[in-house]
Amino acid sequence: MSLFSAVEMAPRDPILGLNEAFNADTRTTKVNLGVGVYYNEEGRIPLLRAVAEAEKARIAAHAPRGYLPIEGIAAYDQAVQNLLFGADSALITDSRVVTAQALGGTGALKIGADFLKRLLPDSVVAISDPSWENHRALFESAGFPVHNYRYYDATTNGVNRAGLLEDLKALPPRSIVVLHACCHNPTGVDLELDDWKAILEVLREREHVPFLDIAYQGFGDGIDQDASAVRLFAQSGLQFFVSSSFSKSFSLYGERVGALSIVTASKEEAGRVLSQIKRVIRTNYSNPPTHGATVVASVLNSPELRAMWEAELAEMRDRIRAMRLAMVEQLASQGAARDFSFVARQRGMFSYSGLSAEQVERLKNEFGIYAVGTGRICVAALNTRNLAAVTSAIAQVL
Ligand code: PMP
Repeated sequence: MSLFSAVEMAPRDPILGLNEAFNADTRTTKVNLGVGVYYNEEGRIPLLRAVAEAEKARIAAHAPRGYLPIEGIAAYDQAVQNLLFGADSALITDSRVVTAQALGGTGALKIGADFLKRLLPDSVVAISDPSWENHRALFESAGFPVHNYRYYDATTNGVNRAGLLEDLKALPPRSIVVLHACCHNPTGVDLELDDWKAILEVLREREHVPFLDIAYQGFGDGIDQDASAVRLFAQSGLQFFVSSSFSKSFSLYGERVGALSIVTASKEEAGRVLSQIKRVIRTNYSNPPTHGATVVASVLNSPELRAMWEAELAEMRDRIRAMRLAMVEQLASQGAARDFSFVARQRGMFSYSGLSAEQVERLKNEFGIYAVGTGRICVAALNTRNLAAVTSAIAQVL
């Protein structure tokens, strides 16, 4: 008998399954709105010019490929802190933030979760309902029970403010609360600054541990605007975690470029926390890869490349915004039997469109338009060539 005869087939990732079905579809008019990737107007994943320039310089330099320090490239970690907290942040000058390069935002969440399991072994984790599907799996695999707090209100296509605060208050003290700092995945529905202030007070009162996940900085309203929740927390005096990612903002999905940052109470404490984070990394994958983080650091630390990147990021952000507005307009002009104006108020790549599982199924079967069963669509996969077909199909399945 084989060692593996009793191994069960794990459930398929629903979004990857959707991609397989899309690839197998022979209709030339097919559109994939199920993905979590930014496509440009030509329907391609862009290679940013700032990235290409930095890569050219890196190849020309013939740099050797030694091991990196366990916590990654120092110039990269510093650049991450400046982007998140603002270059003039007192937290940075006081050396109170620990930052470690990580394998994407996912890797940052995983390092943070493993460290938290050692620090607070009996805590529970709370994530938004709904949330990015990997949040639950990541924290469960680190050994935590995972709860949901109410977040999305389907009747208003907005935030369930009262439910959210009530659920955070009802969690056991010292729970770990995962919050999307901007561009909520999957809904696109973000919190206002006043909501953040109210949440912060509940977290403080209940001694909960905030874990801010920011995977789309610059895709909402701008680099600094999208960090406003992180900066509010930075001023609060609380200790908290931030997982961040350059997968989207640098269009470097496959290079796995992210970071975990932890705000501590003092420089001395930061040193001890870093030593533990290094232990977690060392026993997982020893040290991070060089390419992506070198590229990001050289772009962020060069005035010319940085200006180029900011312009390219703005272009992606503006294109998504333009697609949102055009989608709302076209749905209205095609006589859609529903008001979709909420789509224009959402932020980031995604939209909870309000389409039901049956409507999503009809979009796929009758029109070759693929979306997630929850009604999540990737607005960043729309372009001026596919928009009319998508909106007309939506109007017909309503
Ligand atoms: N957090 C959220 C909310 C995300 O949507 C994603 C990416 N889909 C991540 C984290 C992980 O990003 P990465 O690809 O950098 O691991």
